[in-house]
Order: sequence, then C-alpha cells, then structure tokens
Amino acid sequence: MDSIQMRAYGKINLSLDVTGKRDNGYHDVRMIMQTVGIYDQITIRKMSGQGIKVTTNLSFLPVDENNLVYKAAKLLMDEFNIDSGVSISLKKNIPVAAGMAGGSSDAAAVFVGMNRMFELKLSKKELMERGVKLGADIPYCIMRGTVLAEGIGEVLTPLKAMPDCHILIAKPHVNVSTAFVYKNLHLDSIDKHPDVDRAIAAIDAGDIKELALSMENILETVTVPAYPVIEDLKNLMKEGGALNAIMSGSGPTVFGIYDDKEQAGGAYKLVEESGLARQLFLTRPFNVNA
Ligand code: ATP
Repeated sequence: MDSIQMRAYGKINLSLDVTGKRDNGYHDVRMIMQTVGIYDQITIRKMSGQGIKVTTNLSFLPVDENNLVYKAAKLLMDEFNIDSGVSISLKKNIPVAAGMAGGSSDAAAVFVGMNRMFELKLSKKELMERGVKLGADIPYCIMRGTVLAEGIGEVLTPLKAMPDCHILIAKPHVNVSTAFVYKNLHLDSIDKHPDVDRAIAAIDAGDIKELALSMENILETVTVPAYPVIEDLKNLMKEGGALNAIMSGSGPTVFGIYDDKEQAGGAYKLVEESGLARQLFLTRPFNVNA
C-alpha cells in the first residue's frame, strides 16, 4: 500500500464539566463527546527520500513539527524505524481552534492510517496509548462515537449511540484560546455544575428532548461574558426551533440540536442571514457502528 485516504471527524461536547485542577495545571473533566459528520480529508503517501512533508489548504497552519499530523507520523516513524519518507496532505474543513478537536482528530487519523499503511499491527488500545502522549483528546478521536471522557479526557467509557437528530454548528468570527478559558475558570465560585449523569441517562433512554435539555458546558461561565456573540448564537438557534443550543469544548463554536429537518434548515438560514457565523454547517451525529 503506497497511499491511504482518511477522514478525520470533528466532535462536539453534549455535556462538559470540570471537576478539579491538578498540581501540574491539568484539569479533571467529565464530558460527553459526540463525533459529528464534519471531517478533514487526509491523504498519506509514501515518498522517495526521507522525512515528513505536510501540505494544507490553510496557509496559516504550521506544516512543520508544530502540526499534529507531523507529530503523529514522527512518533510512529521513530518507534518503528520507518525509513521511507511520508507526505501528508491535509484538507481542513473542521473549524480551527474552535472546540471541535480538529487537530486531535487529524492526529488520530494519521495514527490509524500509518498503522494500516505500514502494517504496524498496533491495536486500537496501543494506538490510543501513543496518541495521549500528543494530546488528551487524541485517544477519543481514535475511538469516536458517543463517549464519556474523564480524567484529563483520556479515560473513556463508550455510551449508547446518541439518538439521530440534526445538528447546526456555527463558528463565530472570534477566536478563543483554550489556555485563556482554563486560566479564567474559577471553580470555587461555581456552585451549579452540569448534570452529566442526567445527560447519560437521556442517551441511555434514547430521549433526544431530555438529552437536549440536559446539555450544559461549564466553560461558558468564562467565554460568554468575554464573547457575547456565543450567547447571541445560542439564542438565534433556539429562536429557530432548537431543542437546546450550547457551546462546544472551550469554544467559541456553538451547536443546536433539532429533531425536525425543516426546522433545522430554517435555523441554518436564520444564522446565515445574521452574519454572526464565519463557518456554518448542518450535520448529524456520526456513530461508529452506523
Ligand atoms: P480542542 O477542541 O481539542 O480544544 P481546538 O478546536 O481548540 O481543539 P485545533 O483546531 O485542534 O483546536 O487547533 C488549535 C491549534 O493547534 C491551532 O491554532 C493550530 O495552530 C495548531 N494545530 C496544529 N496542528 C493542527 C491541525 N492539524 N489542525 C488544526 N490546528 C492545528
């Protein structure tokens, strides 16, 4: 096999709680991850000569060792003494620095793709053990689907697949740094945490309305006061008939859940016309065994 094409899917957080902070600065989280149908396209090719060559359609992204696809390829090439060169073409579609784990998903796709292409015979678990060295979300991006993530995000429990629905995803014009959000999260002053167990029970019962009503993201306590457009987008999605709308990850991406396709289409137009979104997608949950 001389080349392989991979889809790296983005995720949203159906519920996100932060339960504590470790001495090393990492935060303990409890969150429900859901893969959605938005993906980056990655082609990995063997090339003559040595080294790793990354190309991408977004000129502002790094193409050196600072790109997560580069790091993932290098980790495997070093460990398994792969002496063929590798070129990686990355076509981004997932919003960047937006709370959708785009970079982590790209890295996960490279781990899985290189494992196949060079017949390394690593199990999913062995790929995840390597992935977590590069980022806490990478093991989840290898697993995908509807998953409870705990620890720093790497302790994973698969859940029943999220009920099918329509998901409107809007990335506003602002950029939010994950470091800024966690630095300004004051757990001491928060007395009401998201009810993650209620969301898990709703998933288990296959109840999309109850799931939507239980969705919450503790990081909104930081991002919404700093970037009011997040609240504006949530309100607009709800006006358009969303069962509920919240921010994903550390933001600023907002998503709304709809049980009616036409209503979701109408909400898409409403958000589009508002001009509040730089990127806008109408998609559905991506489930591993679908
Ligand atoms: P998360 O949901 O895990 O917080 P995110 O959406 O905040 O992820 P990413 O889009 O994964 O963030 O990337 C954040 C930063 O990482 C970017 O500013 C970019 O410079 C760098 N980066 C490195 N590799 C990639 C990649 N393959 N795709 C996107 N960004 C990358």
